[in-house]
Amino acid sequence: MSVSVEVRDLSITFGEGATAVKVLPGVSFSVQPGECFGLVGESGSGKSTVLRCMSMLTDFWKGDVLINGRSVRDMPLIERCRTLQMVFQDPYGSLHPRQSVRTVLNEPLVIHKLGDREERMRRAITDVGLPVSFLDRFPHQLSGGQRQRVAIARALILEPSLLLLDEPTSALDVSVQAEILNLLQRLREERGFTYIMVTHDLAVVDHMCDRFAVMLRGEVTEILPRDAIDKNRATHPYARQLIAA
Ligand code: ADP
Ligand code: MG
Repeated sequence: MSVSVEVRDLSITFGEGATAVKVLPGVSFSVQPGECFGLVGESGSGKSTVLRCMSMLTDFWKGDVLINGRSVRDMPLIERCRTLQMVFQDPYGSLHPRQSVRTVLNEPLVIHKLGDREERMRRAITDVGLPVSFLDRFPHQLSGGQRQRVAIARALILEPSLLLLDEPTSALDVSVQAEILNLLQRLREERGFTYIMVTHDLAVVDHMCDRFAVMLRGEVTEILPRDAIDKNRATHPYARQLIAA
């Protein structure tokens, strides 16, 4: 099932008093069911913070995030995990060195009391293009691209509808980047996922996203369709500059 997403005036301040920093003054955008929506902008512009707030990894923000009209704040943890999952930039950092792929994939199934675990794990690992025998491997026995495939399999195992992808290919070699993007593209076509994808790379946006928001210092300067990249149809000076570069 595809879900819509609405981010309404999402704001967050880190620190207190004299050292308080308003990292997101108020971000709003909406994403259609089945859409791949990009968040681009220079390092430090607040892209990861938006995803972390949306997934409630950081929970002291203001505003609202609605998935199919339902606020993520009203979702119990279990429901939230089965609705949205995150994939991070560094697949090595997000996999525990002493946990086999089987352990990584099994854990959410146990927590969520799901049956047919072996079958679900086999399906998830096959879905990301790895052989079933890889269930018995450990992170150090996998290449960077294979580790990211495992991280994606872990995100898929609870069959969520929305994936929040934080620079999922930035840590990978260029040829491997294309493989992972193609995998994500295929999964979206097959399952109707909604994606929100953070990247600093407009080539990735061009490859994957239907529309994208350009962020600057915590604010969305402009929301553009993918084809705005080709002819640089941005109107905001920063967005124009980013595309021109
Ligand atoms: P991006 O992903 O676009 O590179 P981030 O969302 O990671 O940017 O960070 C945006 C800004 O928020 C940065 O200036 C960063 O230092 C700051 N920031 C992020 N998390 C925290 C935190 N927990 N405490 C204080 N500042 C933070
Ligand atoms: Mg980031």
